[in-house]
Amino acid sequence: MAAYDDTNIFARVLRGEIPCKKVYEDEYALAFHDINPQAPFHVLVIPKGRYVSFDDFSTSASPDTVAGFMRAVATVARELKLDVPGYRILSNIGSDADQTVAHFHVHLFGGRRLGPMLRRDGD
Ligand code: 5GP
Repeated sequence: MAAYDDTNIFARVLRGEIPCKKVYEDEYALAFHDINPQAPFHVLVIPKGRYVSFDDFSTSASPDTVAGFMRAVATVARELKLDVPGYRILSNIGSDADQTVAHFHVHLFGGRRLGPMLRRDGD
């Protein structure tokens, strides 16, 4: 796994160097609207620590940090009133998943029927 790069976009968002449309923040997580939304609600939830990906986060972060982060994701969804009728969370890890920002993030999609979980290969 590549080392964490402090110049990645989300590290710069966390440092306040790049603005974001914040929807939620607590000690574990920052949530903000994706700059290129794929659904009526498309929010990114990121941990505050230096984790490259879910793989890194799940192995390196403390149990408290993992639990706090996961709870924050669910809190964001509830605060956006997406728990009913529902929403989708997704995290891309590495090149086959086209992860483009090497700071762990969870995508939270909602606000419409989201359709099949994955499109066909190449779509
Ligand atoms: P990935 O492809 O790594 O899973 O997701 C990265 C996401 O970050 C993309 O959905 C992209 O639109 C979003 N993104 C990239 N740069 C920025 C930015 O500067 N601000 C915000 N809010 N989102 C960004």
